[in-house]
Amino acid sequence: MKNMTQQEKNRLILEELRRLYPEAGPALNFSNPYETLVATILSAQCTDQRVNQVTPAVFRDFPDPAAMAETSPEVLYPYVRSCGFKSKAVNIVNACRKIVSDFGGQVPDTMEALTSLPGVGRKTANVVLAFAFGKNAIPVDTHVFRTANRLGLAEADTPEKVEKQLQRAIPEEDWSKAHHWLIWHGRRVCHSQRPDCENCTLRSLCRLYGGDMSADRKA
Ligand code: SF4
Repeated sequence: MKNMTQQEKNRLILEELRRLYPEAGPALNFSNPYETLVATILSAQCTDQRVNQVTPAVFRDFPDPAAMAETSPEVLYPYVRSCGFKSKAVNIVNACRKIVSDFGGQVPDTMEALTSLPGVGRKTANVVLAFAFGKNAIPVDTHVFRTANRLGLAEADTPEKVEKQLQRAIPEEDWSKAHHWLIWHGRRVCHSQRPDCENCTLRSLCRLYGGDMSADRKA
């Protein structure tokens, strides 16, 4: 593998990830762009399982941006308290108010418009673009950032740079799938603290295997 170019390694890494995780897909439950946006805002620093426990009641009582815009963070917060910070309730309500005032009550489908909403950064916007609107996008969360850097698919110190490098390293039609492959690999094998390198079938291709984990990049 030593004489291989990084481009050849990338191709083999993606082939192996595809083989390992054929069923990889979104773990959050949602059925339209509004639900995707709300669930993704709630998922920051919270497990998908926990988010899936609270969203049925949220979507039942606030079924669209207009209903959410009419409530207040104080009313919403008890529904989502177990997902952490009160700021999430504030952001969801304020984002929906802006969706109603500026976007006719419809969740917008461009990066620029999505990131103009309170509490919506690039990662959340990319999730909405990829999984609610079916656009090719690579959301970079903590797992994608870590595993992409370790494997050598990217080598950068910010999520935005990793996203750009992954866009170059991965065929566009695989961007959304690769997002899930890297998340699954990060959760199952390439753990943050103790990556299971000896049982990792990607080790012969991995940039960091056998190297100094303290060189690990942090988002
Ligand atoms: S070899 Fe280790 S660091 Fe590399 S991808 Fe596998 S688990 Fe992660």
